[in-house]
Amino acid sequence: MKIEEIEFLGSVDTEGEWAMEMKEFGLNDVVEMKKGHPCGANAWKIIRMGADIRIKCEGCQHSVMIPRVEFNKKMKKVLVKAETEAE
Ligand SMILES: [Zn+2]
Repeated sequence: MKIEEIEFLGSVDTEGEWAMEMKEFGLNDVVEMKKGHPCGANAWKIIRMGADIRIKCEGCQHSVMIPRVEFNKKMKKVLVKAETEAE
């Protein structure tokens, strides 16, 4: 019936659950990656969030864009949590 269909669609939308299993990070957080930047620094500021995440090296200000999935794999930990939790 229709109700089953709706429930099914609801359970398919697991993006929220999936996100919770991931390391927590947000815009303007400074993170450490598994591999540092060739410049010697290993602190990256998240400057853009989306399907792709743009991070900027705190050492040389070089910025790179990586797919979110890749980012999750390569990120080690959050070094500095951004103070503002603005939506
Ligand atoms: Zn760098």
